[in-house]
Amino acid sequence: MDSLPSRFKPAELARSGRHCNISLTVSHFKRFSGLLASEQGQVDAVVRFSMQGSQAMAKGSLSTTVELQCQRCLEPVSTDISAEFAFGFIDDESGADSLSAELDPVLVDENGETGAVEILEDELILQVPARVVHEDEHKCNPAVIEAVTTASTVDTNKHNPFSDLGELLKN
Ligand SMILES: [Zn+2]
Repeated sequence: MDSLPSRFKPAELARSGRHCNISLTVSHFKRFSGLLASEQGQVDAVVRFSMQGSQAMAKGSLSTTVELQCQRCLEPVSTDISAEFAFGFIDDESGADSLSAELDPVLVDENGETGAVEILEDELILQVPARVVHEDEHKCNPAVIEAVTTASTVDTNKHNPFSDLGELLKN
């Protein structure tokens, strides 16, 4: 299995039926790593290129272990992310209409090229869980929990601006 170059021509790889692997540190994915607690980790993927009639396509899977922020104690939580994907490579937006439904369209540039980061980044972002907490509450940082709990108690005692609004509306 070859390592997929950072830029490649999917049509060429599909015609020769190439099977490639991708190994990139999380820091290569700017939008994805922006959602994480750190840039630690590596994204590994395998991609098999093939032709479906005259359509260049690629199927594969990716996996990585990244650090997300625990919503309870705000410390990093190690989280496994994996996904399977199937792409159909198109030259222009209208090409998406003729793709079979199981293929996600990937637009190639004017040289017929795309990149490993481009094809994988949206797949990674889709897999980021909306809310992550340490599975075992005892792994949460107790000092932060206490601080967060105290802060929310103070919040509920805060003056509520809408109570004034209520008074105003009565008049
Ligand atoms: Zn936690």
